[in-house]
Amino acid sequence: MIMQIEIDTSKVGNSIKNYILHNMKMNYDIHESNDVITIMTNVPIGDIKIKLVEILSPHLDEYIVVENYDNKNQLIVLKNGDIEQLGIYACIHCGMMFKSDEERNQHSSIHYFM
Ligand SMILES: [Zn+2]
Repeated sequence: MIMQIEIDTSKVGNSIKNYILHNMKMNYDIHESNDVITIMTNVPIGDIKIKLVEILSPHLDEYIVVENYDNKNQLIVLKNGDIEQLGIYACIHCGMMFKSDEERNQHSSIHYFM
């Protein structure tokens, strides 16, 4: 089943949006308007997220990919610093979200053993 998955890049500006577009258009049917990248795909959103994190991996100190709680088909790219102001702590390796720095640090240690 073809689904429409969105990546909201409105919080991070044009250069990172173009970088994502450039790296995703090889693999996916994508469109962009108003800082939202739309992907038409039958690939599950979890796999799109993994791909996006992979694309951003050289920049993962700066950017983070999170899922939109209100829209299950949308991923949001945020600046790493911004998200903590929202009271959300995201793992820089996989984007999983936590309510405190401690929880996140506890979680992120699993990545160092893989
Ligand atoms: Zn993680």
